[in-house]
Order: sequence, then structure tokens, then C-alpha cells
Amino acid sequence: MSRTKIVAGNWKMNQNLFEGKQLVTDILKRSSNLSENVKVVIAPPFTQLELAASQIKDTEGFYLAAQNCHQEKAGAYTGEVSAYMLKSVGVDYVILGHSERRQYFGEDETLLAKKVNAVLDAEMKVIFCVGEPLEIRDANTQNELVKKQILGGLFHLDATQFEKIVIAYEPVWAIGTGRTATAEQAQDMHAFIRSVIEEKYGNDMAANTTILYGGSCNPANAATLFACPDVDGGLIGGASLKADDFDAIIKAA
Ligand code: PGA
Repeated sequence: MSRTKIVAGNWKMNQNLFEGKQLVTDILKRSSNLSENVKVVIAPPFTQLELAASQIKDTEGFYLAAQNCHQEKAGAYTGEVSAYMLKSVGVDYVILGHSERRQYFGEDETLLAKKVNAVLDAEMKVIFCVGEPLEIRDANTQNELVKKQILGGLFHLDATQFEKIVIAYEPVWAIGTGRTATAEQAQDMHAFIRSVIEEKYGNDMAANTTILYGGSCNPANAATLFACPDVDGGLIGGASLKADDFDAIIKAA
């Protein structure tokens, strides 16, 4: 299987400039010798991006992500940051559709589809998050919801554009809760996501799309999750803030 494995660290709203600089230094010290076919993506807050870009620029296999962007290129949108601006500081990926953005900032599929377009127009890639809240999992309707999220946010893309998409499956009930999906739950959903991609873009695209798992991934469970045939790495929150833990997860990929 030639699919790229990715371990991405989503710092969320953590680390000031100095703490973040140290964290990137520590991560590079431990993890810069990556195995072939593994990419590491660091997603610090906006304030850290330019500095982090300069820190990782000579390390092969390391990439930079932003955690969000605005859908317009420029204009009177006080407080917002555009994809075009992110590209100019060396960002490679933008995380879109994280459940915290959906929940706290009301981001829905219509808006996310516009943000996806903005990121692709700026010649970056997208890490597109999907995942169900607990009540949907309890009702066993998670596949329908995740399919709807993928259709609404991504399926307006043509095949060339879709090649720039990484999907992260993050069950909301597992994010920051210490409750991880079992390997079986993760594998089932990842295989389902691949089948949804296949219906629209065909077998090759389905086989080549990187699909990450996220939600309380840590050094103790990463190897089991990443051993699932359809799990291609992880989107890591809390454990990405500790260089040792993040390194152990990278080595599990
Ligand atoms: P967590 O967060 O690893 O802290 O659960 C994952 C995420 O929200 O991307």
C-alpha cells in the first residue's frame, strides 16, 4: 500500500510564541528521523505559523498546517485570516471542519465547502474533519452523518481537487475525553468513508486517500489504531503538546 501516513498535531488554542518555539525545537530533536512514507504535520495557532515554518523548513517530512481560515481572499472581515495569507507564510495544509469549529462557531457544510475552495485556490491541501457526536453513535446512525458531512463539504470537488484532500475521522465523543474509539470502530468507519469516496471518485481515489483517526489518540493506543488497514495515521490534540508523547505516536505510524 503506497498511501502516505500522516501524524498531525493540532495544538488548538495552546502555546504562546515562546512555548511554541520550544515545543517545535523539542519535536524536531526527537522526531526528525522519519520513516519513509510518514509525514508529520504541525498545526499551531496563527501566531506561531511563520516562526514554525522557519523552524521546520530544512527537515524532510515536516509540514505546517493552520487550524482554520476565512473563505474570502481579502476584505473587510475584522479578525479573520485568509487562505491566501496562510500560503504566504509557508502553510501547507489547513484543517477544516473540526468539531470544535462546527460546535462553537456554527460552521456548517455550506460554509466549509467555501473554505475548502479557498484553501485549494491558494494551492494548499485540506485536512477535512468529520465525526459524530455521542447521541448519533448511540443511535447507530454515524455512517449517515459522516456521509452527509463528506458530501456537503467535499463532493463538489473534481477529481484533481479531491486529490488534495486528507480526511480525519474524529468521533466527537472521543475528542479530549480520554475515551478512544476501538480499533474496530475506527476501522469500520474508515472503510465506510473509503466506500463513500469510491462511489463518487472511483476505486483508485478511494485507495489513495489518506484517512486519519483523531480523538484521544496517545502513545498507548496509537500502534493498535494505526495497524488498522484503513487508518493512515492520526490527528492528535492533547498528546501533540508533549514532544515525547508526540514522538511515540509518530513512531507508531
Ligand atoms: P485529542 O484531540 O487528541 O485531544 O482528543 C484530537 C483533535 O481534536 O484533533
